[in-house]
Amino acid sequence: MLEHAQRILKDVFGYDSFRGRQGAIIERVASGGDALVLMPTGGGKSLCFQVPALLREGLAVVVSPLIALMDDQVATLDELGVAAVALNSTLSNDEQREIAERIKRGEVKMLYLAPERLVQPRMLSFLQNLEIALFAIDEAHCVSQWGHDFRPEYLQLGQLAELFPNVPRIALTATADMRTREEIVQRLHLQNAERFLSSFDRPNIFYRIVPKEQPRKQLLNFLAARKGDAGIVYCLSRKKVEEVASFLSEQGYPALPYHAGLANELRAYHQKRFLNEEGLIMVATIAFGMGIDKPNVRFVAHLDLPKSLEAYYQETGRAGRDGLPADAWMAYGLQDVIFLKQMLNNSEGDERHKRVEQHKLDAMLALCEETRCRRQSLLAYFDEDMPQPCGHCDNCMDGVQTWDATEPARQALSAIYRTGQRYGVGHLVDVLLGRDNDKIRTVGHQHLAVFGIGKAFAEGEWRSLFRQLVARGLADVDLEGFGGLRLSDSCRPLLKGEVSLQLRRDLKPQQSAKASSSAASQLVRGEERGQWDALRALRRKLAEEHGVPPYVIFPDATLLEMLRSKPSTLAEMARVSGVGARKLERYGEAFLAVLGAGDDAPRAVVDLRHELVSLARAGMTPAQIASQLSCSEKNVYGLLAEAIGRQQLSLEQALDVPEALLGEIQDAFLDGEGELPPVAAISEQFAGRVELGILHCVRAALQAEFEA
Ligand code: ADP
Ligand code: ZN
Repeated sequence: MLEHAQRILKDVFGYDSFRGRQGAIIERVASGGDALVLMPTGGGKSLCFQVPALLREGLAVVVSPLIALMDDQVATLDELGVAAVALNSTLSNDEQREIAERIKRGEVKMLYLAPERLVQPRMLSFLQNLEIALFAIDEAHCVSQWGHDFRPEYLQLGQLAELFPNVPRIALTATADMRTREEIVQRLHLQNAERFLSSFDRPNIFYRIVPKEQPRKQLLNFLAARKGDAGIVYCLSRKKVEEVASFLSEQGYPALPYHAGLANELRAYHQKRFLNEEGLIMVATIAFGMGIDKPNVRFVAHLDLPKSLEAYYQETGRAGRDGLPADAWMAYGLQDVIFLKQMLNNSEGDERHKRVEQHKLDAMLALCEETRCRRQSLLAYFDEDMPQPCGHCDNCMDGVQTWDATEPARQALSAIYRTGQRYGVGHLVDVLLGRDNDKIRTVGHQHLAVFGIGKAFAEGEWRSLFRQLVARGLADVDLEGFGGLRLSDSCRPLLKGEVSLQLRRDLKPQQSAKASSSAASQLVRGEERGQWDALRALRRKLAEEHGVPPYVIFPDATLLEMLRSKPSTLAEMARVSGVGARKLERYGEAFLAVLGAGDDAPRAVVDLRHELVSLARAGMTPAQIASQLSCSEKNVYGLLAEAIGRQQLSLEQALDVPEALLGEIQDAFLDGEGELPPVAAISEQFAGRVELGILHCVRAALQAEFEA
């Protein structure tokens, strides 16, 4: 059996060996047993049911909560030559009937559908008349009421056990905690399932948390080494999402906003672009998350602090699903702590609930101020013991200096106390540094004993100290919401001199920036760039021809291996991990040709304009063209508008804007009488929704029409 599974792995999926417990899981399910699989994101869950599906007779039924997830998997299987279909509400009745016919004729191997559809009586009786290979229940934690992804329809999946007693069922999730696990077993009637627990470590992710000083500048520093990489930047508020997205775009990093306040259509459009294009940055609130299966997200950056380690783990986990190096980077500061604590205080809900939330926030803060290995600390929170420091986080790599902060901490606490426990950090630091300003004079704080006792330290050091006092619960934030600090009960031993206090010494920003160019940016070495870009360009072209995201053609890891092992024959190409029989046949020659061209082939000097027109005609979006030609998106839009004006390009070739939106823009231009208004006259109306460049292109097209 395992031998047969190995052959399928190589022939169909193009991989040489199973990862982790995949082999054991596949054996269990293929031989008819139930399984509960807990594996982190990127661990390779899909193969755990896809391979048994191919080993067993009959139709495999896969339950998945989101259409986007289903479509992605179906497209991937399709490329591998496996007959898979997704039944969802976007299909017409005729299409659905046709799929049913194909299933009856035994032409479909894998059927993806949403839980509510599966449990319809008609669907169940349809399936009962067929041979079913297995049921796979993906994202099985959706059955748990405690998680935030609860889907009531999942509760009904328990009946599969009774209706299909002889069909193996496999439930899969990346949510690890014990409570969720037990709920899955109980609600899905998986008492007889063998449990497969993997480590939740994500070894390819490099964790870094830096003190927040000038967050935008820090973000730019972080991004500088990652130009052309796809990533997600999380912010807490919609407003900030919009601001950061336009800031990044101005700085030459193609970025799109994503939050619950955007029109559905636009949100879906941004998500689609993120999946289909390379090197786009999504600036998002946590509304952007589940259903993001893009494997080559190279970084996740947090500009605001998540509320819990669960959230942090889940959000950072969206980086590096493909197993290649990826970064989790976060800038965190006192304001974050104050903000989240106040939000908690003001939230609805009972005391018990608040205490739980408080506890979760404290764990998050402890990770931020951690002086030991971040990964050890993160995994320990999820009850996983990691014996050695990881060597792959900021603390392991840079080392953490601690210092004895007992005395200055006492000074800081007494400054809080002497000023009446109602001032924010800014004022407290002024007092400690003995600054002579109006506010100090007005309230007479220049007469306090603590005035000016802290001159031995710089402002930044005091801020760092206050932040750590609050993070450790030695000082509290006021409940009124003005950011004033108070003493907490737990600071007494420190004030009385009974305990000492060791704190982290913050790195200087330039130090942390330098050290933060972790492995991700070194995926491709300088001399390989040319060929790497050529391989990616070919992949992009094929993806567009096939109407799938680039990673469905080949994942980055496969391209990277081609780059390194330089196959020169189809037989050698077949050995590359990720090249199965079907893909070899379809794409082998084309990629060999690119590799054979070598990077020393003289690159023709092409006119930028000429190249731009042909790229646009080939269906590339402006962002893709920008990264292909290494120029800014703004520049690309300008050139596109020119080309449209010269009628070398049609608007449809140049842009991929939803029709309704395009109509809206055209209407705006045509609203007035006579002359076409300048872009500036209507840009206000589309601010934050439509890039300026798009407006220029639309105007150019209308202008050309007028003149014709
Ligand atoms: P999950 O659903 O657990 O997040 P996926 O099933 O999407 O993970 O797999 C993540 C990536 O790892 C995919 O690109 C997949 O093709 C790849 N992968 C899975 N199993 C193997 C394997 N045995 N060898 C090589 N690559 C694998
Ligand atoms: Zn570490």
